[in-house]
Amino acid sequence: MRLVFLGPPGAGKGTQSARLVEKLGVPQLSTGDMLRAAVSAGSPIGLRAKAIMDAGQLVSDEVVVGIIDQRIDAPDCATGFILDGFPRTVAQAEALRVMLANKGLKLDAVIELAVDETMLVDRMRKRVEEALAAGKEVRADDNPESFKTRLETYRAQTAPVSAYFSELGKLVSIDGMMPIDEVTAAIDDALGL
Ligand code: ADP
Repeated sequence: MRLVFLGPPGAGKGTQSARLVEKLGVPQLSTGDMLRAAVSAGSPIGLRAKAIMDAGQLVSDEVVVGIIDQRIDAPDCATGFILDGFPRTVAQAEALRVMLANKGLKLDAVIELAVDETMLVDRMRKRVEEALAAGKEVRADDNPESFKTRLETYRAQTAPVSAYFSELGKLVSIDGMMPIDEVTAAIDDALGL
């Protein structure tokens, strides 16, 4: 199964994709995770992406499209994948459409997790507190200033991606403010799992 997860930062895309990975046995492809790995490795892409990511802005379409194009050719994606954090602009969505068509592949569904902004800010604060309490590293972009920019970036550049998929008849919108297990059940239901 080939899926896309859409939703603002803190909507729970990571949590829900991880559950689907277990169920479907396909990999979760998070462009955020891949870019953070590039930053940690100090690769040329990582070196260029770091400041942009820390500020809560978007890395260029060209870079992320290139990363995904290569990644979905890997053998573990043969039976499907879950895209988390990509596409994040309409240009990326269009590039994905062309890329999949060239590979003879189709998306099965696009799941959007809808969550109010006030709740997202609370979740980000909680995530930081929990990371600190557990002695874990806090993401450089999990601070109120960058988070505000991430939400603005989402509103301006990513929200139109939902409309793009909705027009293609692929969008399933799910209330991401329900308890985690209920969100999982709603997703399973929408996918017929
Ligand atoms: P979030 O939890 O905010 O959804 P992610 O872990 O998905 O964050 O991404 C973190 C950062 O990585 C983004 O703010 C952005 O700078 C960069 N990034 C991730 N995916 C993309 C993408 N598809 N296009 C451009 N930039 C991206």
